[in-house]
Amino acid sequence: MLERFATDVLILGSGGAGLFAALHAHQANPELGITIASKGLVGKCGCTRMVQGGYNVALNPGDSIERHFMDTIEGGKWLPNQNMAWTLVSKAVERVQELENEVGCFFDRNPDGTLHGKAFAGQTFDRTVHKGDLTGIEIINRLMEQVWARPIQRLEEHRAVAFIPAAGRQALAGVLLIDMRSGAFRYVAAKAVLLATGGGPTMYRYHTPSGDKSMDGLAMALRLGLPLRDMEMVQFHPTGLLAGPDTRMTGTVLEEGLRGAGGHLINGRGERFMQARDPRAERATRDFVSRCIYEEMRAGRTTPHGGVYIKMGHLGQDQVAKQFKGMVERCADCGFDLAGGLVEVVPTAHYLMGGLVCEVDTATELPGLFVAGEDAGGAHGANRLGGNGVANSTVFGGIAGDTMANWIARNRAERPPDEAVLRFELARAQYPFTRPRGDLNQLRERLLDVMWDDVGVIRDGAGLRRGMSTIDTLERELLASGLADGERPFNLAWHDWLNLRSLIEVSKAIVAAALKRENSRGAHFREDFPEAGDLASSTFTVVRQRDEALAIAAEPVEFTIVRPGESLLQRAAP
Ligand SMILES: Cc1cc2nc3c(=O)[nH]c(=O)nc-3n(C[C@H](O)[C@H](O)[C@H](O)COP(=O)(O)OP(=O)(O)OC[C@H]3O[C@@H](n4cnc5c(N)ncnc54)[C@H](O)[C@@H]3O)c2cc1C
Repeated sequence: MLERFATDVLILGSGGAGLFAALHAHQANPELGITIASKGLVGKCGCTRMVQGGYNVALNPGDSIERHFMDTIEGGKWLPNQNMAWTLVSKAVERVQELENEVGCFFDRNPDGTLHGKAFAGQTFDRTVHKGDLTGIEIINRLMEQVWARPIQRLEEHRAVAFIPAAGRQALAGVLLIDMRSGAFRYVAAKAVLLATGGGPTMYRYHTPSGDKSMDGLAMALRLGLPLRDMEMVQFHPTGLLAGPDTRMTGTVLEEGLRGAGGHLINGRGERFMQARDPRAERATRDFVSRCIYEEMRAGRTTPHGGVYIKMGHLGQDQVAKQFKGMVERCADCGFDLAGGLVEVVPTAHYLMGGLVCEVDTATELPGLFVAGEDAGGAHGANRLGGNGVANSTVFGGIAGDTMANWIARNRAERPPDEAVLRFELARAQYPFTRPRGDLNQLRERLLDVMWDDVGVIRDGAGLRRGMSTIDTLERELLASGLADGERPFNLAWHDWLNLRSLIEVSKAIVAAALKRENSRGAHFREDFPEAGDLASSTFTVVRQRDEALAIAAEPVEFTIVRPGESLLQRAAP
């Protein structure tokens, strides 16, 4: 049942972070054996491919790295790890040039040949570089071609299920995976492992990330006792399509540019409700608009499916059809007329700012384990700017590739796995085959509801405690239930069961962190603690699993580059 392999570098995930890491590790040392293991098909899975809007980078005259940095820090409500945020914005320049000149991407240009930057909410400069509204496909397709052109091994449709520490547990030895096609287990020993499974808050009733993401990587890190930071910070995008419960299109994003261009949000009574709440009206930031929509929903002023409407027709039907072709077609597929009519929308869980604690060079506290992309915590703090997500995964993915190659040069010895942990994890992954058949779908539906209702856009202590208790019950019920058959090849029910287990484990970390933060910052809003609190004494949450319980701490934010009240725009860069 268990096949064993060895590689130098093992990369979990084939999004922007994973593919960039592979290219950089190969460039740093072409002799290295590099393996990418991915739950989906390389180039066809994950969220990087889904990026519509674009990539933030300070390139054009009038913009600066300092300005991009200040937007990131202020957007993150002073919680980001400033050294990570600085690395993100400064390396983004180099990475975009690499994407164009070495990887082969073409982004849209201004008439003078410079890269076109579009406007994104929460930024003081139009710096979002893009390829129409299909930027992610351009990036991932070109990255995939570059990976294919190199001797990089691919384990596609391979699901990572556990990190296996070395004997003595002082370092990582490798990863246990399931070949989803055959159902066989594979242990891959590696000198360096990159976690790049891309977070993705798919435990909410309405969500945008790709279906292959179920927080497996963060669940694996939790089980090893590693620290996760900022887990309460789940970003909601205000305008997810709401097309009823019977379509997977519900929850998918209607892009921010619609509000940016002047779209109106209208409640179920036909009233425009944003003007009274913010001078920027619909152009206010994602978190605030999401909260306002949620309040309309709670007050019962809703559309037939329980959301609000977005209306674009006043901008001219032909203009909307031309400017937002993809969005108009997406809405038409679901029976809505975006250019001339009303489209139902709802806030939708989009991105997890929280993740595994790491250094700027992507090293974690466990020697041999590195992390990059949406799985890594720290760069965004309480809020991710639109356009900083794909910049984050490509910047830190590349850094991870360089770091791992250097690390291996200094740590060449094989590390045999702790065989007891390996046996334990093999049994754990097969656990559902030992239990009588249960109704997995209704458990999942209940998780989606409890996260939306009690741990969602607006929170309070009572709701969070109720949420934790419901999730505990769901976990017990999941562990009491199993699968109908014991077939291993392409057993999707088995993977649904494992997905649900990961989602439940990480949901508990989100609730624990949300209970710990008794103030409201960015994406985390508590009705019982609506104030932001003192910025100068800001803390970030850190969750660890100790034995079977979660330990939660608050650690001070270090203002290594700029302090609240200051701005880099008035002084020289670090
Ligand atoms: C609809 C949508 C639009 C977006 N638009 C933008 C935008 O305009 N600009 C922007 O900056 N950001 C945007 N984002 C966010 C952006 O997509 C992410 O920040 C970024 O792509 C994450 O990259 P990643 O490499 O960390 O993860 P991903 O690209 O999501 O890749 C994760 C990989 O991990 C694999 N995986 C998952 N679990 C396992 C497992 N157990 N074992 C092995 N492999 C596993 C997946 O199959 C996948 O290959 C958008 C996100 C969505 C969902």
